[in-house]
Amino acid sequence: MCGIFGISDNEESAKLSYVALFTLQHRGQESAGIASVKNGKLSYYNSMGLVNEIFNPSVLASLSGKSAIGHVRYSTAGSSSVNNSQPLYFNCKYGEIAVAHNGNIVNAAHIKENLAKNGAIFQSDTDSEAIIHLISRSGKKNFFEAALEQLPKLKGAYSFLFLNKDALMAARDPYGFRPLVLAKKDSSFIFTSETCAAEVIGAEIIREIEPGEAAIVKNGKISFFRFSPIKKYSRCIFEQVYFARPDSVVCGHTVQSARYLIGKYLFEEMKGVKADIVSGVPDSGSAYALGFSAASKIPYVPVFMRNHYAGRSFIQPDQKMREFTAHLKLAPIKDAIKGKEIVLIDDSLVRGTTSLKIIKSLKNAGAKKIIMAVASPPIISPCFYGIDTPTKEELIAVRLKEKDKIRKFIGADELHYLSLDNLIKACGLGDKNFCKACFDGKYPVK
Ligand code: SF4
Repeated sequence: MCGIFGISDNEESAKLSYVALFTLQHRGQESAGIASVKNGKLSYYNSMGLVNEIFNPSVLASLSGKSAIGHVRYSTAGSSSVNNSQPLYFNCKYGEIAVAHNGNIVNAAHIKENLAKNGAIFQSDTDSEAIIHLISRSGKKNFFEAALEQLPKLKGAYSFLFLNKDALMAARDPYGFRPLVLAKKDSSFIFTSETCAAEVIGAEIIREIEPGEAAIVKNGKISFFRFSPIKKYSRCIFEQVYFARPDSVVCGHTVQSARYLIGKYLFEEMKGVKADIVSGVPDSGSAYALGFSAASKIPYVPVFMRNHYAGRSFIQPDQKMREFTAHLKLAPIKDAIKGKEIVLIDDSLVRGTTSLKIIKSLKNAGAKKIIMAVASPPIISPCFYGIDTPTKEELIAVRLKEKDKIRKFIGADELHYLSLDNLIKACGLGDKNFCKACFDGKYPVK
């Protein structure tokens, strides 16, 4: 996952990008960057770390252009290093270009291999760099025409932002795997991964950029182009399950309301379940648990205190320290747990190792019974479109296959997964255009 943000025609473009990237921080915590254009010249600043660690007033002052793009990174293709941090910057025959990308281009290795045979030199090991090399070899007269010509050569998932001295461009792959929203604030146009990043700066949401569509903002005007027909619309259903922020709107509804509905459907599927309390694994689990509680009349009680400061940057100096990490991130609230039969809801089961630790800590705190309810179906296939899932063999649903073996492995007394039909029903509320390959193995793009 990554988060992207772009804004045109605003004196405060870098500062607003900073605020927006801070809002998108949940989509990537490895690195962040902003590129802006002023008087026909691009400046950029990228670094490893969190948004508020990277940017300070003097860095933002050095990015004083009227248009900017920004990026927060969670690496899925290419290693976690500053060379791969985005926006990537290039100087080619079309002049200076900055690019920010969310997604995973599945034929990037093939494209880069062919380019390398013809002498191309790459500055990063990301898939994102492939498009710039393709564009720079186009015969078209300007960068944006070249981009529209070359984008159909990419396969897989991409929401792109491009910035050059003349214009800001957004483009979304023909399947629409990754989100891309258009918004407006006064005379500025905004493109971003989630509505929350536009709303935080007071912008009004206009619509999603459609699959296979590009938008170019030049001289204060926006134009739309179709570089590919919509293939099979395949939004990533994991956005609502886990990644997107609860206040973001996807398919016309907040992510929070989809999660609340999933909680209700979970209860319907587990009819007759008896427990003293229902709780969720923070943060995403809380909305599921509230929906479950409303439907079941079982009281919702938080059982974990989450330490919001123990992010990815928390250093685990050795194995012994590593053992403390689970407790450090999620500390059980003993009085809420002791002697209780608990329905515990988590968004998904991937390797199962996190659930094992969580359930163990609840049992150690005196829980009488743990009924594990998973807000999604078993994950049976890895993601190739930009989500960092492990290999097929590492997935617990593949490794252990039977539900009862999985239940025993994680140490739960009961285990229930949400059905795929109800997941689609809750996330789409009428819209069924999802990628769900990690649950059914049917990949929209090979
Ligand atoms: S495979 Fe799963 S995680 Fe990947 S895009 Fe499809 S639904 Fe999302």
